[in-house]
Amino acid sequence: MIKIFLNINCYVLCMMCFIFNLAAQEIPYVKVLFQNSTMPESYYFSEVAYEGKSWIRNINHKIPITENYAFTPGNSLLFEYISAKEGSWNVDVSYDALRGMDYFVEADHISFWLYLEDVSAKQSLPDLSLILEENQTENSIALSDYTLNSQVNSWHQIVLPLKAFKTALKTKDIKGIKFSQSAESNEIQRFYIDQIEFLPELKKQSPISEVPKLIKTEGYERHIDVHWESVKDASVRYVKIYRQEAQNEYNYVGIQSPWIDGFTDYIGESSAKKYNYKISYLDNRYNETSASQVLKAETKKMTDDELLDMIQQSHLRYYWDGAEPNSGLALENIPGRTSMIATGASGFGIMAIIVGVHRKFIAREEAVDRFLKITRFLNKADRFHGVYPHFLDGSTGKTVPFFGSRDNGGDLVETSFLMQGLLTVRQFFDKNNQKEKEIRETITKLWEAVEWDWYKRYPDSEFLLWHWSPDQEWTINHKLIGWNETMITYFLAIASPKHEIPASMYYSGWASPSQEAQDYRINWGKTKDGSLYENGNTYYGNQLPVGVSNGGPLFFTHYSYLGLNPHKITDTYCNYFENNKRIAEINLRYYIENPKNYQGYGDDFWGLTASDGPKNYAANEPNINNDEGKMTPTGALSSFTYTPEASMKALKNYYFNYGEHLYGYYGFYDAIALNDNWRSSLFMGLNQAPPVIMIENYRSGLLWGLFMKNEDVQIALAKINSEKKID
Ligand code: CA
Repeated sequence: MIKIFLNINCYVLCMMCFIFNLAAQEIPYVKVLFQNSTMPESYYFSEVAYEGKSWIRNINHKIPITENYAFTPGNSLLFEYISAKEGSWNVDVSYDALRGMDYFVEADHISFWLYLEDVSAKQSLPDLSLILEENQTENSIALSDYTLNSQVNSWHQIVLPLKAFKTALKTKDIKGIKFSQSAESNEIQRFYIDQIEFLPELKKQSPISEVPKLIKTEGYERHIDVHWESVKDASVRYVKIYRQEAQNEYNYVGIQSPWIDGFTDYIGESSAKKYNYKISYLDNRYNETSASQVLKAETKKMTDDELLDMIQQSHLRYYWDGAEPNSGLALENIPGRTSMIATGASGFGIMAIIVGVHRKFIAREEAVDRFLKITRFLNKADRFHGVYPHFLDGSTGKTVPFFGSRDNGGDLVETSFLMQGLLTVRQFFDKNNQKEKEIRETITKLWEAVEWDWYKRYPDSEFLLWHWSPDQEWTINHKLIGWNETMITYFLAIASPKHEIPASMYYSGWASPSQEAQDYRINWGKTKDGSLYENGNTYYGNQLPVGVSNGGPLFFTHYSYLGLNPHKITDTYCNYFENNKRIAEINLRYYIENPKNYQGYGDDFWGLTASDGPKNYAANEPNINNDEGKMTPTGALSSFTYTPEASMKALKNYYFNYGEHLYGYYGFYDAIALNDNWRSSLFMGLNQAPPVIMIENYRSGLLWGLFMKNEDVQIALAKINSEKKID
């Protein structure tokens, strides 16, 4: 239930959190307003309007895009319009404020690239103004004043000084730009715009000295992965990727940020076909270096097993290649904060790394070195009675109160996700050498240090509390009450060798029948269904033993059960493998019925859970009040153990039919909403690893086996089994 709670928190305290976070080691980035639409046909972050005898082409009031012209592949914005004397049109292009990306390089000018097909279009170019925070005014300027030298049929850079709009402007206050009809044109006119960004004053830059170098290519059905040597030269703004097919010319197929060491080129080719790849670097002025050497690649047909390998490997990349370098742990989202690591996502990520070693994607020795780095970092990082905060600065190990000033202490739930991972790691690295021994010993020390009992607040408390901080103490006062993602928290608190809580709290806290607990559950689902922990109702033909509302979001069945094997958990109410399976089936059947008639929904496109969305990050559920029309790939893919056939069907649909827009270098993007023609630009730390882990549990039971082998875990299981529910 953290999601909704934290969203509210985040809104209320966002200003506070901005001030607090200035201490973190974040590198400011250039504000890019438009590079590419992530979806075909139109650009979600736009708004088109016209009136009178004027007209401008639009798709559901969004600006169209074209793949035929692109300064940065694969697309640009298409403006096609009539500017009548008795009429007007305007287009707003707004900034997609990505989670955590709020450190900007102060800009000096707007830069974008313009493509004119016909010189006559120059006469009727629109005016431009900035969209700012409320109550700020500024000037508009005529684009035609800046295009006198523009050539036709080629991309031309337009540079507009920001002070022409307004003096003393902060880059963070710019919400977008508005194009408005200017001079008349009774003919239809057309132009294209691409790569709109707010750039600092470009000082004379030393040329890029580094030579781009490819390391390897990997061919799959439909796509090729291209990997290169890490970019070190700070002058490199982008890596540019070229593909050659047969003896044809090289095509410019992609652009990548220099901090990512590779690119996924989704070609769509299923049969065996040969390609050549090379890359170059671009500087701040888009000057290009000479190209790297050429590497060959070939697409190939794949079996279902190879498909599972591929997904596990690409999703794992988020935690292996994409980790924060100093700590080796997981970022909250990519792109996003580059120095802030997330505790729970890191717990999931380290379990994914174990899968990587098991599947031989990663050498055991390399993983050992990574875990030495991780455990040494965690041993020195901030803790509050042994409990880690939700977010840590990867370079200093200090708490980052990203969700607001109140959340500046320990987070017991995030810590339990981390401990679930660490206990699995301790079991996996069983060799009798110095390095593996150090990993095991440090984990034991961290595990024993967690004061689960402190988070009861009172000695005779029935509940665990989510947060505690040295100056705020119990201000947040969020009690842990199931059904939700926190079974693992109660379980590990009961398992703790040094700071255990009584096993009776499984029934008095997690499954509490108290009025307070009932109110909490009713408040989550806005229904009495499941308010007594037990549910018993039937939804879409499935009787649900335990669950709030009609089962809740799918992550309730994932986060706690990555290591904790639900087959082994049977309490007074039910067996949790069976219960989770029913929750997954309810979710699936909801998509098949599709009561809100959303595009794409069906037995191969399903899974409501917590994810990024067109408007914000939110937890969705299979009922009409909590379904925003988005599909989150991690939903079905992390349910592989519960619904293997339906999960495989979804995987194939996502990859083969939506892969061009949905699949990237770290696997599937976070979410997609077809009705809004929107796809998230993010990969989320909480969502990329669960498919790796749950697919592995489905294939071999590896993580379940390792975690359940822990002696402390075994003891907790026996203790809970001897408890009885409270009537
Ligand atoms: Ca582009």
